[in-house]
Amino acid sequence: MAVSVANEFKIKQQLCDIGHRIWLKGFCAGNEGNHSYRIGPNRFLCTPTGISKGFLKPDDICVVDGSGKQLSGKRKRTSEFLLHAQIYAARPDVNAVIHSHPPHATAFAVAGVELPTCIHPEAEVFLGPVHTAKYVTPGDKRLGESIMPYVKDSNTIILANHGVVCFHADLEQCYYQLEIVDAYSRILLLAKQLGSVNPLKSDEMAELIQLKKKFGLPDPRMEEASKGSVSCATSDFMSRVGGGDFGSRGRMSINGGTCAVKPQSPLERAIGSMIPEQYSESDIEQLVQIITDQIMASV
Ligand SMILES: [Zn+2]
Repeated sequence: MAVSVANEFKIKQQLCDIGHRIWLKGFCAGNEGNHSYRIGPNRFLCTPTGISKGFLKPDDICVVDGSGKQLSGKRKRTSEFLLHAQIYAARPDVNAVIHSHPPHATAFAVAGVELPTCIHPEAEVFLGPVHTAKYVTPGDKRLGESIMPYVKDSNTIILANHGVVCFHADLEQCYYQLEIVDAYSRILLLAKQLGSVNPLKSDEMAELIQLKKKFGLPDPRMEEASKGSVSCATSDFMSRVGGGDFGSRGRMSINGGTCAVKPQSPLERAIGSMIPEQYSESDIEQLVQIITDQIMASV
């Protein structure tokens, strides 16, 4: 694949347009974030450092090789191109990489809470499982190494305490993934405030994954789905909503029934984990009340 000069200019314009959309969505503050596009076997367009991604002009876009060496462009390339380069090297099918700090997804990155699977069809179809790579100083070449365990089997990765990186064959689709991962994170946070999260049943998940097959979208759970049932990884997020035992059983349930899970206070959770199983939720609530009353009476 090699792109003509006319097409190269068109892609530069598209990179500027994506930058503006990232800025409009509030995904990058100041001069944060960077994105790039593969235009040849060892030739890439990428955004420059030290400038807002909201108002880039085609002239600002840099041309670099796979080692990060700048080939042309009046501005200095992003310091995080090496992260992009490692993705391009590991995934010959990928032509676009976007790195950004969308606030809701970055909140999960900062909280150290993995995004759960088996909840929202959009996230399942367009993202699939989203893993969190361990923290590395931004700009360091180890950032690329940190995502290597996940790069083959995913298209969107959360960078611990940092942000998100998305990659795809198509620039527009790559940007959609960035929007979807932040929208999904926001939906999860809002649902948590409402107090319940109903996961999809394993057969509903199998249907979704098989739909991906029809669309030609890869998914590491495809083989499982072909057998009619997909197990869902429990997540720290689910236990924070107040439940957590879900997956093959489908809806998160308490005492065998399907219900909205009531959020628990840290004190309720601590007591709940200590007392024997035969005590009900209302017993725990009463116990918490008695302890709280005693504490209040003693101050
Ligand atoms: Zn960053």
